[in-house]
Amino acid sequence: MSVMEQSWEKNIRKCVPYVAGEQPEKAKMIKLNTNECPYPPAPGVKKAEEEMNLGNLRLYPDQNVTSLVNALAEYYHVNPKQVFVGVGSDDVLATSFLTFFNSDKPILFPDVTYSFYDVWANLYRIPFKTCPLDEEWKIVAEDYKQPNGGVIFPNPNAPTGVFEPLEKVEEIIKANADSVVIVDEAYVDFGGESALPLVEKYDNLLVVQTFSKSRSMAGLRIGFCIGSEKLIKYLNDVKFSINSYTMNRPALALGVEAVKDDAYFKMVTGKIIATRERVKKELAELGFTFPDSKTNFIFASHKTVPAKEIFEALREQDIYVRHWNKPRIDNSLRITIGTDEEMDVLISFLKKYLAGK
Ligand code: PMP
Repeated sequence: MSVMEQSWEKNIRKCVPYVAGEQPEKAKMIKLNTNECPYPPAPGVKKAEEEMNLGNLRLYPDQNVTSLVNALAEYYHVNPKQVFVGVGSDDVLATSFLTFFNSDKPILFPDVTYSFYDVWANLYRIPFKTCPLDEEWKIVAEDYKQPNGGVIFPNPNAPTGVFEPLEKVEEIIKANADSVVIVDEAYVDFGGESALPLVEKYDNLLVVQTFSKSRSMAGLRIGFCIGSEKLIKYLNDVKFSINSYTMNRPALALGVEAVKDDAYFKMVTGKIIATRERVKKELAELGFTFPDSKTNFIFASHKTVPAKEIFEALREQDIYVRHWNKPRIDNSLRITIGTDEEMDVLISFLKKYLAGK
């Protein structure tokens, strides 16, 4: 790799990180370097630690997240130096905003998208400009060909569920050699196509994914991103300037187990895709319209009954879907794909409810 500075590197927050004490993993050692407690945790914790093989909770975890970085690098066929792991993809994204969006020019993202992007931009005082999705909820590539301090969009997008073909993603990356382009692939495992192969071609592309959806582990908080070694180095410099020990030992141990079991991963995502496809048909029969979804949710509007009314009626049944009182999307519901049984309950309630309207 060239040591010359690329044009996109000018926009980046560069920092000299804190250096934490080393965390050797020797069976026999006298470890007096990072002020840990020499006694085991409370008996209940100790029992869980041993039974679940969570690692030695008395000691700090590996600040370099080596086991999980290596497992992901092997799975996605990249160099471990191209992988960064964080506390859910929210942590990866927040750290990326802080690291890569450090210009006076506005960053660009869609008007209808993950509602955390403008929150981070405001928090970090990053100027931003939103680009309207077209009437089919699609990204307009031309909008991303204006001067900017960075670009971010989810693919598939949320809450629309719409997947953009890789040609359009590449067109946007190509037009933005002077800034970092982040593709948030939180939902890519449900039938989309990842931009990961483009990482080899574009050293300013960062692809972010999560264990929260397709790997059924929202409760553990694991997210990761893959990009050029340069991008990952800048990201680590910022991480190590905030909190060296982001990933706890249980997350590391259980995260590695999840990556190892590809058959289970494929089985679960396959099941969700199959359920989604039949729920699409059933919702359409009930008078709902929606953009085609490649995610684990459907963004549906009813032809006659306002979304808010349906949302409240479902809530009374303890069926929770998502509704936003926001321009453009206030007549839509985002319905997550649950088990077949859960979706049967939803559909049969909607049938009865809508028949009475
Ligand atoms: N990106 C998108 C588009 C999302 O919808 C979500 C889920 N709220 C996330 C990132 C963050 O997910 P997590 O922090 O659980 O990985």
